[in-house]
Amino acid sequence: MAADYSNTANVLDTDNTDTAQVPDDIFVIVASSDKRSDYLSWREYFMSTAFLASLRSKDPATRVGACIVNRQLQIVGIGYNGMPRGCPDDKMPWGKSSPDRLFNKHLYVCHAEMNAILNKNSADVENCVLYSTLFPCNECSKIIIQSGIKEVVHYSDKHRKKPETIAAKRMLAKANVETNQFIPTMERLVIDFTEVNK
Ligand code: ZN
Repeated sequence: MAADYSNTANVLDTDNTDTAQVPDDIFVIVASSDKRSDYLSWREYFMSTAFLASLRSKDPATRVGACIVNRQLQIVGIGYNGMPRGCPDDKMPWGKSSPDRLFNKHLYVCHAEMNAILNKNSADVENCVLYSTLFPCNECSKIIIQSGIKEVVHYSDKHRKKPETIAAKRMLAKANVETNQFIPTMERLVIDFTEVNK
């Protein structure tokens, strides 16, 4: 079952205005007219977090990010595709076209979804939702299922014809892990570091 975002108090919307000196009726008018309307929805926020994590990836071909959210809408894990700990980025292969598989990245890279699950800052990720910029592969789907994640929200499905993705979808469906594609309401999200100083 998909998480219900509609009835959850948005902690980001809570302002700290001191209402002690302000009559109730005036405060209501001020609050309703001052509230921003262009804030991110929860799903936009979590998917954007996954995209932000993907910017850490050193993979020249594929940047993937993932973000895990619990039922209280708290982020409990973030990951991106990268080499295992202790395997220096500069000494590992990042290509994928060598005839010798040992010189390609695939045998070494840890995928974003796996890293997000392993990097969790909670006891487990049971009943959580995993946001990923790309539909999870079969290997990550196995880990998603075994970890108790109950929903996957993905952005891209560009590998939908690959056997890995088809196998992933078969397993997720049989394990009753819900999958939903994220449809953005905007094409891009710009982070303007200078805005806070204006
Ligand atoms: Zn994967």
